[in-house]
Amino acid sequence: MPVLDPRDPFDGSAFPACEKPLLASSSDQALQAESIAELRRHNVRRAVLDGTPERVAQWRRAAPGLFLPAVAFGKATERSTEELRRLHRDGRLEAFAEVAMQYRGLRADDPRYEPYFALAEELDVPVGIHLGEGPPGAARFPGYEDYRASLTSPFQLEEVLRRHPGLRLYVMHYGSPLVDEMIAMMFTHPGLYVDVANNDWAFPRAQFHDALRRMIDAGFGKRILFGSDGMYWPGAIGEAIRAIEEAPFLDEAQKRDILYHNAARFLRLNEAEIAADHRPPSADRRMARATP
Ligand SMILES: [Zn+2]
Repeated sequence: MPVLDPRDPFDGSAFPACEKPLLASSSDQALQAESIAELRRHNVRRAVLDGTPERVAQWRRAAPGLFLPAVAFGKATERSTEELRRLHRDGRLEAFAEVAMQYRGLRADDPRYEPYFALAEELDVPVGIHLGEGPPGAARFPGYEDYRASLTSPFQLEEVLRRHPGLRLYVMHYGSPLVDEMIAMMFTHPGLYVDVANNDWAFPRAQFHDALRRMIDAGFGKRILFGSDGMYWPGAIGEAIRAIEEAPFLDEAQKRDILYHNAARFLRLNEAEIAADHRPPSADRRMARATP
């Protein structure tokens, strides 16, 4: 975590270097290829992919069936409900994510977002909303002038869920670090899920495990979704999976729930999607096919 004298300018590169850094891909094309390879290596069945519709379409062509196409709103670029409806009709949008009004300094129950939640409920598409940390030192980080830590509160979802009880809503980053509020909301709203993206690889492991354990102990092991938020770092996906597999307080069934079953239920995967295997054929299987 950065330590900054308030009178000094913020320089992200000046903070202590990591001993085992995760390196970013060297280009857009490398990011696509390396992310897909990493997802296949770990036998990921469905990955929510957010980007411009054009970029998402390109990645889907490179890995048919692997990605669930998502479109973001609430960040710098706004998209009209008409455009979202059209993308959904054309099969190019199956989730609203990442919904990030926190980065704009706005609340989720702000009236201007009401038509988006109504549309998501009508179309029956999942909505992933960012409630949690921004980058470390966001208040001094160029580009994050509107981000507000105080807008992390999961309680701002209360009126949204009262108005839209059919909404398939999941909270990205489980409102970290406000786990108590998140637990209160999950207790009250039985259809509400969380994901553990980014916290499972970019935060101190002890802090993440403490938060995960509190949600498990509170009884919500069936409503926690795995997530990576890998962004520019394909290696983050495997590191995030390790954070679940190495959690000493989870038994095997709880790990399978977080890594697979909870998402299959929440996303309503069908039998064919559950059976799909996007891994390249193993050397053994290639050998078997090559041998008459
Ligand atoms: Zn986020």
